[in-house]
Amino acid sequence: MKLRTIKTTSYAHEFPMGPMRVKQPLPARHVEQVSPFILLHHAGPTQVEAGRPRARLSPHPHRGFEPVTFVFSGNMHHRDSMGNEGFLQGGDVQWMTAGKGVIHSEGPSEEFAAEGGIMEIIQLWINLPQKYKMTEPRYQDIPASRIPLMESADGKWKLKLVAGALMNLKGPANTFSPVQAAMIEFEFGAAIQLPVQENFNAIIYVLEGKVEINEQLVAHHTMVEFANDGEAIQLTSVETGKLLFLAGEPINEPMISYGPFVLNTQDEIEQAILDYETGKMGNLDF
Ligand code: MN
Repeated sequence: MKLRTIKTTSYAHEFPMGPMRVKQPLPARHVEQVSPFILLHHAGPTQVEAGRPRARLSPHPHRGFEPVTFVFSGNMHHRDSMGNEGFLQGGDVQWMTAGKGVIHSEGPSEEFAAEGGIMEIIQLWINLPQKYKMTEPRYQDIPASRIPLMESADGKWKLKLVAGALMNLKGPANTFSPVQAAMIEFEFGAAIQLPVQENFNAIIYVLEGKVEINEQLVAHHTMVEFANDGEAIQLTSVETGKLLFLAGEPINEPMISYGPFVLNTQDEIEQAILDYETGKMGNLDF
């Protein structure tokens, strides 16, 4: 089986976003997107002290893509203008389709803020094909109990499949274009081979630990973009940790992103701003 080679590596720089600090490996200086994946934010792990004021992102709109939240540790309280409310715990995933427009707010629950704990979250933006950009918004709350798990024979790694098909598992998320998303935890010395479909773009983001790929050492907070030149990705871990594996069929269409909107033309961006300002994406007071 031919192994994919590394195309780019991007180290995530950290910056403040509202009340949190986030690391952003995508987009990076030399990587505008790895279609259909357009943005990845990694927040934490952070020790939230008990009794601190709630760090909440205030209501803001999205249109034209899917914001997906992986809660690795801690807790997330989501509210949106469609009337959905979600309380996610460690291991849960929230797969939101912004479609023609939704307003949401997110942050730890009051209980978590009062009790404190470790918070670690990834938010991923997945593009929508043009024909689905104005679809009705959709909210998928995926508890950890619905996410299938497979453990390697030697017990050194385990994989939880959120979307797509992989290693005889089927992920619970419904997607608009073919996407695979898996959370993988590994111990030192784990050897992992991930099959990848020929036409899919693939990335991994290392949250914690270190892995070796094709004799190249990849440390935590680094995203690896693979060339489309093989049928599998081979990783060997050299330090205990965890990573996110993402693969998907590229959307070969023009893309313009402006703040929270990801569309195909400049006119559509201007329309989105107008629609938001005139209340067409709904309302949310907190
Ligand atoms: Mn958001």
